[in-house]
Amino acid sequence: MTAEPLASDDALAHVPLGRDHPEIRDAVRAICVKYPGAYWRNLEDTGGYASGFVKELTDAGFLSALIPEAFGGSGLPLRVGGVILEEIHASGCEGATCHAQMYMMHMLVRHGNAAQKQKYLPGIATGDIRFQSFGVSEPTTGSNTLELKTTAARDGDHYIVNGQKIWTSRALHSDLMTLLVRTTPLDKVKRRTDGLSILLVNIKDSVGKGMTIRPIEMMVNHNTTEIFYDNLRVPAENLVGEEGKGFRYILDGMNSERILVAHESVGDARFFIDKAVAYAKERVVFKRPIGQNQGIQFPLARAYSEYRAADLMVRAGAALFQAGRNCGEEANLARLQSSEAAWNAAEACMQTHGGFGFAREYDVERKWRAARVQRIAPISTNLVLAYIGHGVLGLPKSY
Ligand SMILES: Cc1cc2nc3c(=O)[nH]c(=O)nc-3n(C[C@H](O)[C@H](O)[C@H](O)COP(=O)(O)OP(=O)(O)OC[C@H]3O[C@@H](n4cnc5c(N)ncnc54)[C@H](O)[C@@H]3O)c2cc1C
Repeated sequence: MTAEPLASDDALAHVPLGRDHPEIRDAVRAICVKYPGAYWRNLEDTGGYASGFVKELTDAGFLSALIPEAFGGSGLPLRVGGVILEEIHASGCEGATCHAQMYMMHMLVRHGNAAQKQKYLPGIATGDIRFQSFGVSEPTTGSNTLELKTTAARDGDHYIVNGQKIWTSRALHSDLMTLLVRTTPLDKVKRRTDGLSILLVNIKDSVGKGMTIRPIEMMVNHNTTEIFYDNLRVPAENLVGEEGKGFRYILDGMNSERILVAHESVGDARFFIDKAVAYAKERVVFKRPIGQNQGIQFPLARAYSEYRAADLMVRAGAALFQAGRNCGEEANLARLQSSEAAWNAAEACMQTHGGFGFAREYDVERKWRAARVQRIAPISTNLVLAYIGHGVLGLPKSY
């Protein structure tokens, strides 16, 4: 085992209990209430992007919470970014419209050079530069990131990028993208984790000049695309950190990503439980509220129990991250527990609503579909279990 018992860990002495950061929660909810279910359903009908919602969150400073103050953000702890996303989800809104900027921030702040930070961070903070797109997944290699096929070859002061990415969300609604590419062939590196690099790609400058973006129709409105790279020229100054070390930078950012999206699942669980409990009290069948039946009540009680446990693990992960401690175990446990708590709550909420759960105006089916995504993206449950299996329990690796 890699971690000491949680209770003896100093960093966890500061794990907040109760609804911490109440002013921030209230302010986020005050924005979300202006974007009710009808707004999201309409976007689904049109495949639209939540520009108004994202702009309002940006203008209020919520999306720059994790950007250092020196670059126009508020330099707040990861937990605050998570609380913002949690409230967005608990309100029935969608953090996927804007969360990538938060979860890529750690990578850019930690590994970007001074010129890159000066060039991009202030614009990201004001919303002039939309940094919402993250190109890692590929059609042929899937979860096996180390074998990804998109290459970038150095040519003078540029990299020439060739290959294909899939599931690159929000590419058509972003200005700047993080792109993971192979700069040294796999058979020429000492360690399999070497030879991958991160490029910052200016999307607007690239479309039609070696970058082709095609939307993918999906069961959720993530504005997801596939992207073809055909001799795209990217300035070498857009390389983040050192060439060949990109996978380490991605790994370094993964804990913050896991913890942030886990907050979203905690928010989803709250949404489903609140909605289901209210309905179970009010819906009367056989002359009694359906919530009086243990067949309805117990799944909700169980969902509540799972949500509370996940919430504690999410807070533990955020506290350890903030203390600069190793938080890989807690980040992965938080991710696993919260995505499962949200899904079980979604199922309980759907069942509680009976046929009305399928009626779009109740928003249960929309959030149910969205909650399902969290067990596959940004990382699938099996890969999290594999981390716990070999990284924490020391069992043999399956890959
Ligand atoms: C809505 C949505 C938005 C997304 N947005 C982005 C984005 O913005 N940027 C981006 O880069 N990607 C994005 N993705 C992609 C996402 O990260 C991947 O779908 C996810 O990581 C799983 O990869 P895959 O789909 O290739 O599955 P595969 O790797 O093909 O795996 C399929 C199944 O097999 C399992 N599996 C594979 N290998 C093992 C193993 N060794 N042991 C046990 N089980 C295994 C997986 O867990 C999974 O359940 C998005 C996906 C979705 C659905």
